[in-house]
Amino acid sequence: MKRMVYADNAATTQLDIEAFEAMKPFLLTDYGNASQPYSFSRTAKRALKESRETIAKCIGASPEEIYFTSGGTESDNWVIKGSAFSDPLKRRTITSAIEHHAILHACADIERLGYPVTYLPVNPHGEVLPQTLHEWLTDQTRLVSIMLANNEIGTIQDIKTLCDIAHSKGAIFHTDAVQAVGHMHIDVKSLGIDMLSASAHKFNGPKGIGFLYIKNETAITSFISGGKQESGLRAGTENIASIVGMAVALKNNLSHLDENVAHIKKLEQKLIDGLHEKEIQFVRNGSSMHVPGNISLSFDNCEGEALLHRLDLMGISVSTGSACNSEDTQVSHVLQEIGLSDRLARGTIRISLGKTNTEEDIEIILSALSKIIK
Ligand code: PLP
Repeated sequence: MKRMVYADNAATTQLDIEAFEAMKPFLLTDYGNASQPYSFSRTAKRALKESRETIAKCIGASPEEIYFTSGGTESDNWVIKGSAFSDPLKRRTITSAIEHHAILHACADIERLGYPVTYLPVNPHGEVLPQTLHEWLTDQTRLVSIMLANNEIGTIQDIKTLCDIAHSKGAIFHTDAVQAVGHMHIDVKSLGIDMLSASAHKFNGPKGIGFLYIKNETAITSFISGGKQESGLRAGTENIASIVGMAVALKNNLSHLDENVAHIKKLEQKLIDGLHEKEIQFVRNGSSMHVPGNISLSFDNCEGEALLHRLDLMGISVSTGSACNSEDTQVSHVLQEIGLSDRLARGTIRISLGKTNTEEDIEIILSALSKIIK
């Protein structure tokens, strides 16, 4: 039987088995609504409180600064829209041109409502230069939102420096850390940031759940109106099972972080060395500061889309551009913004390795790429 190789961990990850086990009681037996006052709901209420504490501790926040959402897309939309509507005087938002569509499309929404948005260019490695932010920042800027790690090329931004610059002109700073949380140490207080988006399914948690860190006293309006859940800022009955699963998955990932990172970096190096050994010509996109395992490769004279399907036939799952829009065969905005030629951009695939990948997986990928490309 053909061996399946999953190498698209930036799109989603396998659910942590302990997270799954921890979720089960809240679906089957302790299914009480955490907002109800009777004793049957106590277990759910306690789980909600403890999960919030666990997650807060994982990123150096206080529990009341963690707001549960349905995932990265919702957290990002909440930040862009909830922040825009919070101050009628300071109207400008600054973001980067290589953000995920959850940020870019939310920005397009507020632009249609008359709120100006600036999209900062990046250098060929996908980095937002501090100088560029300095040049565009004004007293009228309300929010600066720059992603911590890019989903397509893995580039990690110098968030602390960018955040300090934003604060120097009184702007709020948000980072979309969906690709980073659970994969690197993050301390929101030492970074100094005001908001951070995260999504559980990127760190071996369940899909459809995430959180938004909002530093105490940050100006933001509620995003979903209704009941009083999440301090009245995000209405809707809490998804206790998924929240519990997310907390367990994040804690587990972080408690093995150093060994996971060492393992993934070793696999990454094996892949790059193997490509050189097999004399396969490629360009690697992104920066030397990147999320471990996020490997964006461009091959000249190749169609990324065709490569993806041929690898798929061989049992290997990778992505072209961003997994969230893999049906779209347009050249990705990220590859365009880093200045990659159209030809190379079209021949680009993203291999994203995770903690469950093995050396054998890399050998299978290398042998498949060699067969297809040569
Ligand atoms: N932001 C980034 C950087 C992402 O990579 C993704 C998903 O790929 C999202 C936001 C959206 O997250 P979710 O799938 O939880 O809605």
